[in-house]
Amino acid sequence: MMVDLMTIQFNKPLYTGQEDAHILSVIHGGRLAGNGDYTRMCQEWFERRFGFTRALMTPSCTHALEMAALLIDVEAGDEIIMPSFTFSSTANSFALRGAKIVFVDIRQDTMNIDENLIEEAITEKTKAIVPVHYAGVSCEMDDIMDVADKHGIYVIEDAAQGMMASYKSKALGSIGHMGAYSFHETKNYTSGGEGGLLIINEESLIERAEILREKGTNRSQFMKGEVDKYSWCDVGSSFVLSEIQSAYLWGQLGQVEKINESRRQLWSLYANRLSKLEKEGMIFLPTVPQECSHNAHIFYIKTIDDSVANFLMQHLSNAGISAVSHYVPLHTASASRGISRFVGCHDYTTSESSKLIRLPMWYGMNEVDVDHISDMIVQYFEKNNDLRPITSMPVHE
Ligand SMILES: *Cc1c(COP(=O)(O)O)cnc(C)c1O
Repeated sequence: MMVDLMTIQFNKPLYTGQEDAHILSVIHGGRLAGNGDYTRMCQEWFERRFGFTRALMTPSCTHALEMAALLIDVEAGDEIIMPSFTFSSTANSFALRGAKIVFVDIRQDTMNIDENLIEEAITEKTKAIVPVHYAGVSCEMDDIMDVADKHGIYVIEDAAQGMMASYKSKALGSIGHMGAYSFHETKNYTSGGEGGLLIINEESLIERAEILREKGTNRSQFMKGEVDKYSWCDVGSSFVLSEIQSAYLWGQLGQVEKINESRRQLWSLYANRLSKLEKEGMIFLPTVPQECSHNAHIFYIKTIDDSVANFLMQHLSNAGISAVSHYVPLHTASASRGISRFVGCHDYTTSESSKLIRLPMWYGMNEVDVDHISDMIVQYFEKNNDLRPITSMPVHE
């Protein structure tokens, strides 16, 4: 017989109650394919609200990154610089085109690519830098754009986790030449489980983007009445999102402010409740640099080492709390063999990722649950008071 333990799940997909009516209106409107009214309304909302030159709904963030790779004509042998502490899609999108993936280390404080290590990884084959804004906290974009400009290479922001977050008041995704958002059910906003957005800030890439996503045809021009027939004019694929999915997302866009604020409150509550443990050197809390406004995508803590992280996750699991680790660094994964290299040392990528635990976080989560989870973490360290505190936490320049 199943025992009904009280459990606190790790994530709950966002549902506001506004989605249903929009989805029904698509079903009864008789136009289900992509590029309809809801897709257009979502795209225009993103362009207006975040200052993107062009926004295109895609079936996922992975698809948006694949489109970006096609748009900058990544070819076999080209090199793409990125962190190793990321999701497989960041690398796959470029590896699919035959690119060599060049990893550099991350910063200890934000878990983002270390902007000071990028330049030494650049060669004459480097085509782009792909910064990943981990947990919705921005990378140091001014430095990254400077080094990219100096070497004439592209910057494509993997802002899968970055909607409603900013760097120096600029929305994530609006800073690089292109950017990508994810509306997967695990992200802060969702288009019904899967979905993404390609953000294009470079005018010259827009026309071809509209062709690539419509199976290599100029169907978009045809729909606008600019040509009287549409035909096959470039390579491409099907990168359009169903209207039903855009309608789902549309139901959430009217409430982004409220949702973001509520998530940030939960995040701050965790930070308050756990600050005592940080002062005692038992855990390390996430850092948000001053120029960044975050979106509380993830609340994570880091422990002294990987074994403490594993014991603590087990302790929480025994208490019915689902807390989970995150990426296995890509440079250690089998698929990276032969198609990647790591420039410099990977100290933080390897050590910091093994100490990281993500705590439950979703819109509508009870503050009582945040208190309870925090109490259970404090309790773990009280029970294990022989643990060695973190004595040297180097400060990032
Ligand atoms: C979620 C995520 C992706 C992939 O997003 P999909 O929409 O599932 O394709 C890519 N990169 C990062 C950093 C992510 O967090």
